Amino acid sequence: MDTRYFSEEHHLFRESLRDFLKKEVVPHIDKWEKTGTIERFIWKKFGDMGYLGLTYPIHYGGMDLDLFYMVILLEELQRVNSGGFAAAIWAHMYLAMTHLNKEGDHRIKTEYLAPSIAGDKIGCLCITEPFGGSDVAGMRTTAVKKGDTYVLNGSKTFITNGVYSDYLVVTAKTSPELGNKGISIFVVDRETLGISATKLDKLGWRASDTGEIAFDNVVIPEENLLGEEGKGFPYIMQHFSLERLIMGINAHARAEYALEYTLNYMSERDAFGKKINQFQALRHTIVERTAEVEMCKEFNYSVAERLNKSEYVVKEATMSKLLSTRIADGTVYDCLQMLGGYGYMEDYPLARLLRDSRCGPIGGGTSEILKEILSKIIIDKKTYKPATKV
Ligand SMILES: Cc1cc2nc3c(=O)[nH]c(=O)nc-3n(C[C@H](O)[C@H](O)[C@H](O)COP(=O)(O)OP(=O)(O)OC[C@H]3O[C@@H](n4cnc5c(N)ncnc54)[C@H](O)[C@@H]3O)c2cc1C
Repeated sequence: MDTRYFSEEHHLFRESLRDFLKKEVVPHIDKWEKTGTIERFIWKKFGDMGYLGLTYPIHYGGMDLDLFYMVILLEELQRVNSGGFAAAIWAHMYLAMTHLNKEGDHRIKTEYLAPSIAGDKIGCLCITEPFGGSDVAGMRTTAVKKGDTYVLNGSKTFITNGVYSDYLVVTAKTSPELGNKGISIFVVDRETLGISATKLDKLGWRASDTGEIAFDNVVIPEENLLGEEGKGFPYIMQHFSLERLIMGINAHARAEYALEYTLNYMSERDAFGKKINQFQALRHTIVERTAEVEMCKEFNYSVAERLNKSEYVVKEATMSKLLSTRIADGTVYDCLQMLGGYGYMEDYPLARLLRDSRCGPIGGGTSEILKEILSKIIIDKKTYKPATKV
């Protein structure tokens, strides 16, 4: 156990969570991967166990624990080997719920955050649009003020939990002429008239309902505005640090899981009269990947520690996602190779891991966009400040 970051309590939490996932989640994963639907009962079980509220305020049913409980949750979710299931959980907890918690007022927290922690309501975060995801400021969805309401028109795509969630945290332009200074964020009930969603078919994350969503004259009460009007862009950018670190942690965890499985396989598989873990070429590949993954993990833990102390880690979280997702992709690719033909078979975990891993360098900011951000910080010496307290 790494005692620099994890206490005895963390360790016990990891053990009981691993046990829970093995009993309550793993038996259903293959079915959910096939149907692209995660059954509702599991959300309630997660809520009852307190998992959905780990880092959220006690006042709304959470546990107000440190960020390393989140790290453990993310790492253990990767070991279930369904990137889609893991994404459904962490997108609810750390994409949708982060905005409710940071920008929502007491009513919003009571009506949306508390039931999200309990597992009664599921959320999604809608930023990306069919016309372009990387250029967030170029979004076309609008929210026009009309009396004491806003009227939402436009569309979003690639939204995790986009079909089966109960509410949507939606970004839209309230003042299109102001560019990125004219973006606001709203929480919108799924049942509101004018919302339609279509499930998308995709390479991996198959258990997750990735959706395309259309808003056709959707009327939202003005009190469903999150935070201040026009502050949406800085809110999004601020929370991207957490999202990117999460994707970095997911990456090191799935790579570690791939290596662990593969090492075990190699210790049992024979070729040319010896175990395949005795072939130098394979040994060198494995240790090189292990070294890379351990470097990522160490770095990611140090960033999590700084974020836990409320430091604004935009550069470090960006680096975390950029490198960890690339290294995870390479590691999973190499691990699959070690299994030979079995690596290509669905009965073995590497095939799904390979598919799921590929989303890492795309979702939540592509590697190219991350390099753009890092170029601005490292070369142009640009500094980023949080919109509100981290
Ligand atoms: C499975 C999945 C789940 C997702 N979940 C969510 C979600 O829950 N909520 C949400 O809002 N979004 C979600 N996304 C969307 C994701 O964040 C976007 O796909 C991503 O930001 C890229 O946007 P895009 O797909 O429109 O690509 P584009 O922006 O069209 O980019 C296309 C290509 O051009 C490159 N490119 C673009 N601009 C530049 C530039 N300036 N310099 C160099 N290269 C550039 C990109 O890196 C990419 O390679 C999800 C995506 C996937 C695949």
